[in-house]
Amino acid sequence: MNEINRSGWRPAMGSAGEAEAIETTTGNRGLQLEEALIFEIGNLDHCGVDFDGAIDERLLEGLPSRRSAPVDLPGLTEPEAVRHYTRLSRQNYAIDLGLFPLGSCTMKHNPRLDEKVARFPGFADVHPLQPQSTVQGALKVMDELAQWLITLTGMAGVAMTPKAGAHGELCGLLCIRAALEARGDAREVILVPESAHGTNPATAAFAGYRVENIPATADGRVDVDALTARLGLDVAGVMITNPNTCGLFERDLKTIADAVHAAGGFVYCDGANFNAIVGRVRPGDLGVDAMHINLHKTFSTPHGGGGPGSGPVVLSAALAPFAPLPFTTRGADGSVHLIEEENAAQEGHAQAFGRMCAFHGQMGMYSRALAYILSHGADGLRQVSGDAVLNANYVLRSLEGVLDAPFGAAGPCMHEALFSDDGFAEGFSTLDLAKGLIDEGYHPMTVYFPLVVHGAMLVEPTETESRGGLDQFIGAMRVLAERAKAGDPLLKSAPHLAPRRRLDETLAARKPKLVWKG
Ligand SMILES: *Cc1c(COP(=O)(O)O)cnc(C)c1O
Repeated sequence: MNEINRSGWRPAMGSAGEAEAIETTTGNRGLQLEEALIFEIGNLDHCGVDFDGAIDERLLEGLPSRRSAPVDLPGLTEPEAVRHYTRLSRQNYAIDLGLFPLGSCTMKHNPRLDEKVARFPGFADVHPLQPQSTVQGALKVMDELAQWLITLTGMAGVAMTPKAGAHGELCGLLCIRAALEARGDAREVILVPESAHGTNPATAAFAGYRVENIPATADGRVDVDALTARLGLDVAGVMITNPNTCGLFERDLKTIADAVHAAGGFVYCDGANFNAIVGRVRPGDLGVDAMHINLHKTFSTPHGGGGPGSGPVVLSAALAPFAPLPFTTRGADGSVHLIEEENAAQEGHAQAFGRMCAFHGQMGMYSRALAYILSHGADGLRQVSGDAVLNANYVLRSLEGVLDAPFGAAGPCMHEALFSDDGFAEGFSTLDLAKGLIDEGYHPMTVYFPLVVHGAMLVEPTETESRGGLDQFIGAMRVLAERAKAGDPLLKSAPHLAPRRRLDETLAARKPKLVWKG
């Protein structure tokens, strides 16, 4: 096992107990430095900047906003400041350091080409209030990306302004409400399957709808009979994730959509998992009315602390007229301009429901996403989804001998492999395995989600991992699964080799310390 376990904590230490016995005078371990807060290492006697002379007091006289006490910011010399932040950055895990198995998040490598494009001054330095004639290139990027998203999804329109997936969900539901109001129909209920991402019911509730849960079948999909039986005049729509959060394709989505439409409702599809089907399935063909696309999941862009995101929403012909302002449109001469409040009516968009945001959107995400799409081409995108699904199935089949795969027998998965804690020794849980993964040098997978599986572990390798990288991860997972099943007490106290040991999972949320008091 040790030869696969290249992160090597066992061979290096002998045992974790031994690792703990080693104490250093600094509290530092190996090359990992113990880092104090900047307020603890800085003080007012230091300054990284050389001011040339004192400020002329006369300029400040009588100013009402003048401070009466020192501001108490920690002073550091320049090398101290650089070292502090560099050391903190080394305590982070990143996609540039290793495989990031977080299910549902599509943590893939971001091509450096896209980063380069996003930094072109013509994209990076534009201001939203610039005259449109001076930002034609940026507007064309937005417009071309919008066309690609419409083509890839087979929809009629797209709202580009939402800033993230959850924001896109809100945009989609507001479009649905605008469409219902336009026909004088005040429906109140949104149906959401049990396996949905937490943002779905949260968004529906935020938009003022009552949320009702739809159960799943034993094979991990939406129970079509239960859903159709609930449809009626009070149901505004359904929110369904496809592929769903169990990593399975909802084969009955077209049947569901037809039934929802026949009952006068709309179909919202959570498209966060579009990476599994891009280039192969067009959600528009499945009867979807609105679907957000997480540009930061499917189409490049740093993700997870690398922010910001972008969640464009593609819309069916029934919902497109209600899309929020502003959006781009192309004139007969090829130039692009924005549809905004002042020209919406005369350009035929009087039904737009308003705005999601003050300004158009995340230019850096648009330029990365379009660079990603153009550099892959339609064939390349098809290959992306194929490789993502292949990699997930490789993980599923390589681990199902040691970990319980609740839907493994039902056939291949889509982009992510789902396991449960069934078979772990008494007192051992998914959390123990996840913490053990930190000692193995990996960020843990998504745990305890989806809720429909006990002790769920959701692994999404994405298409950008090599076979060698997957084998190394699988090797670590096999060792950890065996330790969890054998009840290895050292796993119960993992992680042993991280900058911090096992932290209280809820204390930070219940009693957050947001202010440093010296
Ligand atoms: C990530 C995700 C979301 C939310 O997207 P954000 O961009 O994080 O707001 C919604 N649904 C699913 C299934 C997701 O994976």
